[in-house]
Amino acid sequence: MKTRVRFAPSPTGPLHIGGLRTALFNYLYARKNKGTFILRVEDTDQNRYVDGSESYIQEALEWCGMIPDEGPANGGSHGPYRQSERKEIYKTHIEELLTSGAAYYAFDSSEALSTAREEAEKKGETFRYGSHNRMQFKNSLTLNPDELKEALKEDYVVRLKVVADQRVSITDEVRGNVTVESNLLDDKILMKSDGMPTYHFANVVDDRLMEITTVIRGEEWLPSMPMHKLIYDAFGWEPPKFMHLPLILKPSGKGKLSKRDGDKDGFPVFPLQWGSDTAGFREMGFLPEGLINYLAFLGWNDGGEKEFFSLEELEEAFSVVGIQKGGARFDYEKAKSVNHQHLSRTSPDTLIENSKVKQVLADYPVEKHLDILSLFQERLYTLDDLKEETALLKAPYPYDEKSVGKLQNKNPQIVLEQIAALLGTQKEGESIKEPLFQWAKENEISLGVVMQSFRLSIVGKLTGPDLFAICTLLGKDVPLKRVHDFLNHLS
Ligand code: GLU
Repeated sequence: MKTRVRFAPSPTGPLHIGGLRTALFNYLYARKNKGTFILRVEDTDQNRYVDGSESYIQEALEWCGMIPDEGPANGGSHGPYRQSERKEIYKTHIEELLTSGAAYYAFDSSEALSTAREEAEKKGETFRYGSHNRMQFKNSLTLNPDELKEALKEDYVVRLKVVADQRVSITDEVRGNVTVESNLLDDKILMKSDGMPTYHFANVVDDRLMEITTVIRGEEWLPSMPMHKLIYDAFGWEPPKFMHLPLILKPSGKGKLSKRDGDKDGFPVFPLQWGSDTAGFREMGFLPEGLINYLAFLGWNDGGEKEFFSLEELEEAFSVVGIQKGGARFDYEKAKSVNHQHLSRTSPDTLIENSKVKQVLADYPVEKHLDILSLFQERLYTLDDLKEETALLKAPYPYDEKSVGKLQNKNPQIVLEQIAALLGTQKEGESIKEPLFQWAKENEISLGVVMQSFRLSIVGKLTGPDLFAICTLLGKDVPLKRVHDFLNHLS
């Protein structure tokens, strides 16, 4: 059987990185098994529908290079892929269950249900509408045919008739077997009074009709698995395989990663910008490859030491055995360090096309763009670092006085005079590196002192990329001037 998996977000806002990670694991599983990756939009809850979320989801997947094989944008053999366009399908299927007796109409008012709930709570019980009490309510099992005919003229819902005294047992590929007593389960509503299916019903019907072979989704849906099994049973269908992914946890403390954590600590939780004030990983200077690589390791690992994976390598390496059961803690520094590896390994010719890079380089002559990027790129953790890193081409940073102080008693003036002399007589395209090192050797001056003096004068601090390469970019006059300025500063 050909592998078919689906990512089934509800368009209730931007995609959280937890959702993106679910999409990624579906995508990787599909690619690894030469299967089909489907996007299905679960938009039956009109109250929670947020305009713009579907296109956001589509754009986020595209940015990450995970183009669905089937979905609302590109269609496919098992559409439509928006649940709001599948109402007729749910209607026929609910009728099938009503006819077979696996489901029934219920007419209880919200007041009647509230009263029943309060009574249960008074006894210290959790309210359930199920096999033990369904005959006390107003539904098609308790009304006579005439009453039923009347009642059907008003609002109603359709409930699943959960079979009593059964052990509902189903396996999750990551966590093993889950067994629940059916007497503990609700007669879940399958069809709401507005004629729309509930999540559970639409989800099961669609997974079946779209021939989904493995359901891969977040852990928060694990408790729904037995209920879904009962809906499959009600139709006499074989359920697909299930795989529930671990939660993504806050950077510290207990609980699920939330937007508030990001707002508090200044990191994004969405792949792309949402609204005018919420930047995504893209806007914060991540490469999609970097984000994807980091997300892959939030709940999975290949058991080896390797951390750097391209999307293609992940497609190859991905396996279910590598999925962990326990929650995966989000770590923004780690995400940046993975991004850093991708930034340093991307070819400058590719990176130069990035709009953030273009924006920074626009301040410099075009013929220098590639050289500048090549020099600084391996120092970047996000693309936003490029502006700060290249600032030294415009002016040195304020002198790092602590390092300047340490240098003072090592006689840097004589070194700087020599550097100035070499820079002054330097020919176009030549480096002063060799003559400078030669001079230091002859005069028994440590290369440490030479390089620190030189670097402090050009950069202002002791870090930064290769100094001679910086000087080449700066041309002849600028380095000379900076050395003189530094000499003045020292005196
Ligand atoms: N629409 C559900 C969600 O937003 C899908 C859950 C599932 O994959 O079954 O997460």
